[in-house]
Amino acid sequence: MLWLLLLFASLFTVVPSPRAEGRRNTTALTAKAAAARDRYAASAAAGGIRETIDGRYKKRYAEWKEEFLSTEIGRAQWDMYAHHPRLVLTITIAENNSQGAATGKYKWNESGELIAATIALGSQADQGYPSSVYYPVMNALEPFESRHLISGNVLAATKIAHEFGHVMKIAGTPEPLYHLQVQLVPLYNKIFLSNGYNVNDPRLVELAQKMGGNPVEIWEDREYWGEANAMLFLRDRVAKEKFHCRLFGKIKRAVEEYARNYEERFAEIAKSQGAIYSCSWR
Ligand SMILES: [Zn+2]
Repeated sequence: MLWLLLLFASLFTVVPSPRAEGRRNTTALTAKAAAARDRYAASAAAGGIRETIDGRYKKRYAEWKEEFLSTEIGRAQWDMYAHHPRLVLTITIAENNSQGAATGKYKWNESGELIAATIALGSQADQGYPSSVYYPVMNALEPFESRHLISGNVLAATKIAHEFGHVMKIAGTPEPLYHLQVQLVPLYNKIFLSNGYNVNDPRLVELAQKMGGNPVEIWEDREYWGEANAMLFLRDRVAKEKFHCRLFGKIKRAVEEYARNYEERFAEIAKSQGAIYSCSWR
């Protein structure tokens, strides 16, 4: 619990956004220059996906992306962000989290709409299986790769889907709540570390109520939303594979063991139309 609280605290980083300064006085500009400026402003305001991939990683990234886009759900989600009217989704490769992936650098506009997010994929995202406790979907792939039934590219594409799940969830989270959590989590952790790890401390109970759960609950809820989207991707990806019920059986067992309180979101995907509908999720 303790390491989770500390880890969670480190996940919250706020990147201040320098506000573009509007210039109203156009009288000195020629009509042509004004038109060019307007075109620039329009393109700057529009959303879309910006892929900032270092040359060293372009080849492997192209393979991961191709794998993600080989599914209907992957294409639909990619298209949604590629043509998004406001949100700029940046995808980049991080070397300091080589087998992981992370999403952050969120920005909102004055109407409270999410306008920026960055997904940083580890440079070796096609390797490494996180624990089944918080990652029941990604973890379930491991035996299938070791038996050469899936490739590392499928794992990397599943990590992309997990991160897309984070973006979708945060887009539906009110900005004030997110900032409240950023503000209160360190305070919660500070009290938690000094009160003998007593989560029933009235101060902690009050903080948890304010921010919608204790830091671990907030964190695991987010991770399980990422995993639910990863499962949605795999539902399409392995639909035609003989082992698909075995894979989803493994996910089901991990969810039942570690994520009981969140089972519904996984069960919904299993029960929705698709190949795993015929596997016995229940
Ligand atoms: Zn995650």
